[in-house]
Amino acid sequence: MAHEKLNIVGIPVDNLKREQFLSLVYQELNQKQKNIFIVTANPEIIMNAKNSPSYRNALLQADYIIPDGFGVIKASNILGNPLPEKITGYDLVHTFLSYASETGKSVYFFGAKEGIAQEAINKAKELYPNFRIAGTKHGYAGLTENVAEEIASAAPDFVFVGLGAPMQEEWIASYQHLFPHSVLMGVGGSFDVLSGNVNRAPKFWLDRNLEWFHRLITQPTRGKRMLKLPVFVAEVYKQKWASRNSN
Ligand code: UDP
Repeated sequence: MAHEKLNIVGIPVDNLKREQFLSLVYQELNQKQKNIFIVTANPEIIMNAKNSPSYRNALLQADYIIPDGFGVIKASNILGNPLPEKITGYDLVHTFLSYASETGKSVYFFGAKEGIAQEAINKAKELYPNFRIAGTKHGYAGLTENVAEEIASAAPDFVFVGLGAPMQEEWIASYQHLFPHSVLMGVGGSFDVLSGNVNRAPKFWLDRNLEWFHRLITQPTRGKRMLKLPVFVAEVYKQKWASRNSN
């Protein structure tokens, strides 16, 4: 059934509760009639898309664009059409791994520096023992069609692509035709976190929507990327005033 989408600075974000979203994905995965391309949208991704038509086109190929984090939920509030809840990309990786374990589905980890995807999948196996490993591949081997074909030949049910934005969504958009029945999702630095090489913010910060601040103090080189946040907020207000004036 078609569900509502909310346009946030040119990107249609799905208006779905987490549980509704998950049951749609699992239903489609089990029907095996198509693949499922999921984008976890945060302000940085939305701003990248605003500045790059080709990246925006890649995102528009997704089956689901979900609000990853507080910034996008806040934007929906400003626009007067609140989305029900945030669906965090990293949490979703765990949820899908747990589902894959319960149902014996197969999982591929593609991305991060050499060795990290393997460490991450070993860790995932400790947590969720019954999923099948379709394979792992680091993200610095060149993004050629051969690499995509190699991954596709394992016919994974879940393909987690940890190349960072915008590369990961562009890769999925380019090669999704090779994965007719898979769930494909960009997961940023999730393998670094899952493998224990990068620490996620403690729960205290997560609960207060301050993960970004934790990242800023622990990985200060990311600071420049965060400058996109105020620009995003300005764009959301621009959209709000424009829609008011047109009503
Ligand atoms: N990465 C990669 N290949 C590249 C560039 C980056 O596999 O050519 C990986 C990088 O090692 C890291 C991830 O992509 O694991 C990007 O992580 P980042 O923390 O920047 O993403 P975020 O979580 O912020 O989306």
